[in-house]
Amino acid sequence: MGSGQVTSSVSPSQGGQFQGKHVTVAGLGVSGVPAAKVLAGLGARVTVVNDGDDERARAQAAELADLGVTVRLGDGATLPEGTELIVTAPGWQPRKPLFAAAAEAGVPIWGDVELAWRLRGPGAAPWLAVTGTNGKTTTVRMLASILTAAGLRTAAVGNIGVSLLDAVLAEEPYDVLAVELSSYQLHWAPSLRAHSAAVLNLAPDHLDWHGSMEAYAHDKGRIYEGNRVACVYNAADKATEDLVRAADVEEGCRAVGFTLGAPAPSQLGVVDGLLVDRAFVTDRQRNAQELAEVADVTPPAPHNIANALAAAALARAYGVPPTAVRDGLRAFAPDPHRIEHVADMEGVSYVDDSKATNTHAAEASLAAYDPIVWIAGGLAKGATFDELVARSAARLRAVVLIGADRALIRDALARHAPEVPVVDLDRTDTGAMLQAVTEAKRLARPGDTVLLAPACASMDMFTNYNQRGDAFAAAVRGLGAGA
Ligand code: ADP
Repeated sequence: MGSGQVTSSVSPSQGGQFQGKHVTVAGLGVSGVPAAKVLAGLGARVTVVNDGDDERARAQAAELADLGVTVRLGDGATLPEGTELIVTAPGWQPRKPLFAAAAEAGVPIWGDVELAWRLRGPGAAPWLAVTGTNGKTTTVRMLASILTAAGLRTAAVGNIGVSLLDAVLAEEPYDVLAVELSSYQLHWAPSLRAHSAAVLNLAPDHLDWHGSMEAYAHDKGRIYEGNRVACVYNAADKATEDLVRAADVEEGCRAVGFTLGAPAPSQLGVVDGLLVDRAFVTDRQRNAQELAEVADVTPPAPHNIANALAAAALARAYGVPPTAVRDGLRAFAPDPHRIEHVADMEGVSYVDDSKATNTHAAEASLAAYDPIVWIAGGLAKGATFDELVARSAARLRAVVLIGADRALIRDALARHAPEVPVVDLDRTDTGAMLQAVTEAKRLARPGDTVLLAPACASMDMFTNYNQRGDAFAAAVRGLGAGA
């Protein structure tokens, strides 16, 4: 097992490089404000540039000004004179004029992840990293649960829980970190080298940002660069395996697949209701190690078992024993709005997967139930629905459509599932969800699942997917109470 002792706070050698350096932080917000504070604390001369100039930005600017940071609001395009390094918020698009100016001036650009990576002290906690179009948060949290069950000091970091900077600068050092990385963050993290990493799946997403599917895949693939022990890929998603092949890894680093079927040598998979490891065992041609039961995974939907296998593979790559995999999976409780069972009413199950904001995620949750009354729709973000509908048609009892882009789904249903009844709700007010659930309840029969898996973003009707899921749950409970 890796050691990762010593200290993970900033060592003089790591932090000293910023003394007196002109650093421009691009973007206030979740990553920008903490980055500016840390850099100022290390003696850098920090300027923050920000496109917006609203009340919140002004409050943040005032707070930073007290620390000696210069903030330029309403101008995120001009490169401040003397800039030696840019630290950007991950969401800033590579094609922004600020970056063109930086490239011209030979100024390096780091994201928040790159900054955190560079601030690690010698002997700092290694990173077990996870990316993918869907399942990142769940997998990282499962991984942290497994590592904790093994007695390791760890945290799930990235979009959830502890921020990367906080984790890297923590007073009390971690043994190992379970790190969620988005494609944006990977784009801006050229020197990141994980102990081991997993790409869960790859489907078109965020293409407007990356410019093309190739560029998106390339950025995801960066997670494997320089891996030391294992590159974990999805045996059912060839694109992830291709990324392993393309990666430049350390000698001895292994490609390890996960599959929902029986595992080949160097894979983790499922046999007779058990999660088994045929990668991190002696004599993997002949041996397999039982890790846990499928029933230990919550919820036991196929894609979630895949997430558990990926988490287990990373934990095993780090040397965690099989019992800790089982205990960690048993201790894991999924975050809200991810295949969350809300209630059973009159023999019908109501499930909230509001977090299924793209077609790939929705397809995974539709594959987990049969028959389904499907509640779908919202903002399509340029997606097409033909494949999703064609592959899921056989399991659909009925469909209730909500949201701005519901016509796109309605047309795909007409093409690929013309016999499935569709209720098209022509309203986007707050009462629409109650009506959608009422319609779904009417259409469902005992044994069915009413599944909110919108395949779309929520912002046309709701603040975010949390609010959409809450509205669904409230509607279900409201109907139950009245039933
Ligand atoms: P992310 O952090 O990548 O957004 P989450 O773990 O929050 O992923 O899950 C988001 C949604 O993606 C879930 O609600 C579920 O619908 C779907 N999902 C989760 N894991 C997978 C997977 N392995 N493959 C496909 N879809 C998945």
